[in-house]
Amino acid sequence: MSRRAQFLEVLGIPTEWVPRRTAPGLPAAEAVAEVAVTQVLAEELAPIPAVTEFAEPPVAVAETAARPVPVALVPESAPSDREAAIAAMSWAELEAAVSGCTACGLCETRTNTVFGVGDREADWMLVGEAPGENEDKQGEPFVGQAGKLLDNMLASLGLARGRNVFIANVLKCRPPGNRNPEPQEVAECEPHLRRQIALIRPKVIVVLGRFAAQSLLRTTTPIGKLRGTVHTYEGIPVVVTYHPAYLLRTLTDKVRAWEDLCLAREVYDRAGART
Ligand code: SF4
Repeated sequence: MSRRAQFLEVLGIPTEWVPRRTAPGLPAAEAVAEVAVTQVLAEELAPIPAVTEFAEPPVAVAETAARPVPVALVPESAPSDREAAIAAMSWAELEAAVSGCTACGLCETRTNTVFGVGDREADWMLVGEAPGENEDKQGEPFVGQAGKLLDNMLASLGLARGRNVFIANVLKCRPPGNRNPEPQEVAECEPHLRRQIALIRPKVIVVLGRFAAQSLLRTTTPIGKLRGTVHTYEGIPVVVTYHPAYLLRTLTDKVRAWEDLCLAREVYDRAGART
């Protein structure tokens, strides 16, 4: 079975797929990846709902949309002594620093820190929002149903946890009740992620979900507008897609996630294999 067929099977999209550029009436310029004709036509006929992301378990859409954008308080100024120290850490030092970190209030309610998992020389890095309940218990990112979907998505690209992929979150501790992270928590934890990215130097970063995308890219732009474009973080290409927990519930955006992964694969292929 082809990777595409595997991916579609995983996502539960049993339909005939053809290149988007061949769909009648569609401009060739819009052709980015393969999209089901039936899906395309449905999208053309029906208004696309506003894109809203949520964590796992889901929070109310209205609540999510009303939250302040966490990047607003992330400073652009010169790094503090703490940030400079983190930026010079080895893997072992960074892991120890995260494990004992008390820089924000989330240290008081966490069970475990969730440092990240995978190949520390990976070409691919996936970045999500923050640990949920299961992740907090197990100390590993993306476990449970969303984690299974993520693993299957990776498999469709010929990837797996621990094999040329590193998976991390913006925040290393779980916000109580899976509430949205506060701007100050993002500001305190971001140096950890930045150091992880600097140590790995992946060929491509795939950002999962609205919150992680807006935090990493320091923008308030909706995820629907961040998708389909190659951004950069510290000189590394970044592709934005939806959070797997969201994809479990939204068939339409599963199709878009496939487009995003195709784009990420294209970026990776252009970058070439690590030497
Ligand atoms: S979320 Fe990050 S900054 Fe806050 S306590 Fe945990 S590791 Fe430290």
